[in-house]
Amino acid sequence: MRVRAGIVELELAETFTISRSSQDVAEVVQIEVEHEGGRGFGEAAPAERYGESAASAEAFAEQHGALLGDDPFALEEIEERLSRLPGEQAAKAALDAALHDVQGKLVGLPVWRLLGLRAAGPPTSYTVVLADPDEMARRAQRDAERFQRLKLKLGGRDGLDAERVRAVRAATELPLQVDVNEAWSPDEALETLPILSELGVEYCEQPLPAGDPAGAELKRCSPIPVYVDEDCHTLGDVAACAERAHGINIKLAKSGGIREALRMIHAARALGLGVMLGCMLESGLGIAAAAQIASLCDHVDLDGNLLLRHDPWPGVRFEDGRQLPSNGPGLGVARHGATSL
Ligand code: MG
Repeated sequence: MRVRAGIVELELAETFTISRSSQDVAEVVQIEVEHEGGRGFGEAAPAERYGESAASAEAFAEQHGALLGDDPFALEEIEERLSRLPGEQAAKAALDAALHDVQGKLVGLPVWRLLGLRAAGPPTSYTVVLADPDEMARRAQRDAERFQRLKLKLGGRDGLDAERVRAVRAATELPLQVDVNEAWSPDEALETLPILSELGVEYCEQPLPAGDPAGAELKRCSPIPVYVDEDCHTLGDVAACAERAHGINIKLAKSGGIREALRMIHAARALGLGVMLGCMLESGLGIAAAAQIASLCDHVDLDGNLLLRHDPWPGVRFEDGRQLPSNGPGLGVARHGATSL
């Protein structure tokens, strides 16, 4: 199989601010895999937090594309070869997505059908970025028109996080979840979580830094479920996460693709954990891969392409608050005005 990769800049509709960063553009890597004239595509959304960049993901795909071999259906063997190389989970996820896309196109079925799944998962949450309480309330009121649940970015490190949720709660009755992106101390978490519970917040994502030794105690004390994201990357992390959380946030850019994400979902179920499916800032190409497995998850947070000024890979349908994968073959998305990278 021939592999090509290229860096693409995605312009955001609005500045995206969370506890550790702020950005107006997201850099992703789009990958094309060609097999006997058929083309599959996948997207890598590398995170600086995990020591990956668009440049490192692009280099990985270009240098190691030959490891895909000649059979796009031999995913187990391909994954075995790729897993001997450390890191670059986003690039691996893009290759995995492109292989699933090729498979679907070869047999004429959408990936969710190939996997034996339903198309529709739960409604997606939509991100309300970190800002002062009034601004977050204003945005929540605006976004409540289009979405069925909102995810508030917290972790302002200014003592105002509870105030942010209070202001948003006064502006909308939609279900709310929050994501602290590792910004709270154990004391701040113990103080704030009961307030969030009173305000009806459904769950709190990654209140503490990844690996914080207070995680298990916080799980015992929290009046609302704690989900972990930065703590949970691959199958090997899931059992430890059961000690410190009620649920895990799976992202393809962390797991390295659909196959590992499926293993993580099943492991989480065996351990009694809730499952959330998240994303990075991604185009419809990245979101399409995740949308294929959304029906297996309790909570879906696939708003990446909806945060862009313009989605260069239309095909995922946003309907009644849900991100529905296309009925077209493979991932079911096509780049605006082109059939090849
Ligand atoms: Mg998160």
